[in-house]
Amino acid sequence: MANLSSWNELRSGYGCPLCLPRPEIDLRAFFVCKLQASTLYLDRNQAYRGACIAIYDVRHATRPSELDPAEWRAFSDDVRVAESAVTRAFSPDHVNIEILGNTVPHLHVGIMPRYRSDPRWGHPIWTTSRDELARVPATDQQCAEIARLLQDAVAVIAGPD
Ligand SMILES: [Zn+2]
Repeated sequence: MANLSSWNELRSGYGCPLCLPRPEIDLRAFFVCKLQASTLYLDRNQAYRGACIAIYDVRHATRPSELDPAEWRAFSDDVRVAESAVTRAFSPDHVNIEILGNTVPHLHVGIMPRYRSDPRWGHPIWTTSRDELARVPATDQQCAEIARLLQDAVAVIAGPD
């Protein structure tokens, strides 16, 4: 967890690692596709197969209340498309939709497929300590394969441009 002064700077957008451009995002995430108001990335931790994140692209914002209604509708629709794509591609038993922003306060939504066989079925994936989180790092090739499945699903759900 960032200390309070650096968190306050991030909250204001200063030095925000999730504002565009995102030169280091590939260290933790793998580009899937551009959506209406966000970009979808695959989480490189694939302990929950298909886990991805939609990061708001339009500007720095931390919470939904900072978007006007049209911006929120566009971003919400992106989340609907992403969750639908994950469901279509991976047939999870459930999907958790998460907006936390505790570490990086730039509006982003985690789309976490859940499976009856997953390490924390019946509970949030989050644990008190990050060290306790289940981790299954994915290779570039695995990320590319999973991203392709999601891209195909988004194309079906979102339809032609
Ligand atoms: Zn930002």
